[in-house]
Amino acid sequence: MDLVDKLAILGGNPTCEKFIPYGTQFIDDEDIKSVVNVLKSPFLTAGPSIEQLQKKICNITNAKYCIAVTNGTAALHLACLAAGIKEGDEVIVSSMTFVASANAILYCRATPVFADIDNKTWNIDPKSINSKITSKTKAIIAVDFGGQAVALNEIKEICVKHNLILIEDAAHSIGTKYDGQPVGSIADITIFSFHPVKTVTAGEGGAVTTNNKEIYKRLNLFKYHGITRDKNGYINKDEGDWYYEQHLLGFNYRLSDLQCTLLNSQLDKIPNFIKRRKEIVKMYDKAFNSIQEISTQQVIYNSDTCRHLYIIRLKLDKLTVSRKEIFDALRAENIGVNVHYIPVYYHPYYKNLGYERGICPNAEKLYQEMITISLFYNMKDKDVEDVIKGVKKVINYYKIKG
Ligand SMILES: *Cc1c(COP(=O)(O)O)cnc(C)c1O
Repeated sequence: MDLVDKLAILGGNPTCEKFIPYGTQFIDDEDIKSVVNVLKSPFLTAGPSIEQLQKKICNITNAKYCIAVTNGTAALHLACLAAGIKEGDEVIVSSMTFVASANAILYCRATPVFADIDNKTWNIDPKSINSKITSKTKAIIAVDFGGQAVALNEIKEICVKHNLILIEDAAHSIGTKYDGQPVGSIADITIFSFHPVKTVTAGEGGAVTTNNKEIYKRLNLFKYHGITRDKNGYINKDEGDWYYEQHLLGFNYRLSDLQCTLLNSQLDKIPNFIKRRKEIVKMYDKAFNSIQEISTQQVIYNSDTCRHLYIIRLKLDKLTVSRKEIFDALRAENIGVNVHYIPVYYHPYYKNLGYERGICPNAEKLYQEMITISLFYNMKDKDVEDVIKGVKKVINYYKIKG
């Protein structure tokens, strides 16, 4: 065997000359210029760029209201607070997600109830949601896994029937549309993350959108220490221009003007980001369609998806090794593979709370078989081709030959 065909992990040459991460930001000169301008301006925080940013997110998502916050986790926390989630409540949440989706429920002293995923779409399964509803259920946190919108029609129907609040964790899915409507305007409350691996970035950042004015007011109050400056809402006498009142225990989840401005500049590029991500997904889909040993996330027709993660799923009965060996071999080929996600309740913290393995069998099986490969705006066609080559090389080596 020549050195090109030999697996890098066995001493051959890596398929990719340099390391290709699974995801990374794209920052151009405009982004840099915009941030430098803020540094020279009077406002580093609480300046004019936040209003601009919130308007822009409303335009992109079609939502009536938006508040920008420090990160996606803070956005989830505020969403739960604004939804009135409290001790004694149960909140149904996807098991196949980053821990933050469930942690936000615990921040409010409520109980996360994990729902299983659909085996094909890998999104939260409405049937599983139905089976987990009790008289204590208050809300659902549904994650648009990998960028594909959850089955919003079915889930909204469940929410209406049982009087539940729907929080959509759209950390992966800015730019995605469902039945022609942008994500962010469909659920009662939607949250976004602008971490550097996500589709657009503020360095750190998040946002909450809603069409409900009362929810919007509560989000704002909780974001800013529980302080109001609305004279009409004061409980005591307005003492003068310096006066404000704290009405509940809130937080400081402000996003600085440096970050707001960077995100403003990033959001202008979102049509290009969406277009390129779709092109890359198409190249991958075409290449992997013919590989018998793997499958990919099934798309639903209602979701016009801006993909955040591209995941291959191994058919282990057609392979001689487990996910670990394939993962290590792909890393050796210089592909920055990763795994999204470990089922939340596998973590020791959740185990200590009493969650046992086996409660979401579909998520657990997917976890054993999934590998995230590279997907980001600035991937060149050559990078995509190299990743495909690397996957084919590794799968070909480890497949059961019949
Ligand atoms: C990234 C992410 C979050 C958290 O966002 P941060 O901005 O990192 O706090 C929450 N949920 C999901 C599904 C995520 O991928």
